[in-house]
Amino acid sequence: MNKNLAKVVYNLRKVRAVFLDRDGTINAEVNYLSRVEDWQLLPQADTAIRLLNEQGWRVAVITNQAGVGRGYYPAEAVAALHAHLRAELARVGARVDGIYVCPHHPDDNCECRKPKTRLFEQAAREFDIDLSASYAVGDKLSDLIPGRALGCRAILVLTGHGQTHRAMAEQQGFQPDHIADDLYQAVQWILQHEASIRL
Ligand SMILES: [Mg+2]
Ligand SMILES: [Zn+2]
Repeated sequence: MNKNLAKVVYNLRKVRAVFLDRDGTINAEVNYLSRVEDWQLLPQADTAIRLLNEQGWRVAVITNQAGVGRGYYPAEAVAALHAHLRAELARVGARVDGIYVCPHHPDDNCECRKPKTRLFEQAAREFDIDLSASYAVGDKLSDLIPGRALGCRAILVLTGHGQTHRAMAEQQGFQPDHIADDLYQAVQWILQHEASIRL
């Protein structure tokens, strides 16, 4: 087979994903958000996710919800927020393929709380995701570190805690592959970057 054709076939077969943080990335950052009435989708976040759906990307949301482990709100409140998220996305024809939650207290030292990689790996197994062709997007270093550790590209968004974490990244010598104003700009960059490297 011609080498370019082989590459095209390979690119068609592999499953690429974008791992999205939730709070401060998809929805406005609210400390220990638990009530649907306090939930606010960030501008164009739904459109950004729809663009990924349309281009054949898997979209997995990975979120630390220590408020459950701290006893601030029950797991049912998290489930209700996620039902709301799915309904909001459905309104514009967008969807997420999976939502993965760490409900533990930071002191539990569980295996799933970001920056650990377990939830990313779980999603990767479920959807047979090619991690080296995938991206992690979030407003904190702890969203990007597990993605980077697994071979994904890492994009910091400046919504939520993004400005603070841009400074932290500089101090710690962590270089995101890209820094975007928000999720929509991050997705635009991913799609353009992919078009340039996959041809
Ligand atoms: Mg966040
Ligand atoms: Zn956990």
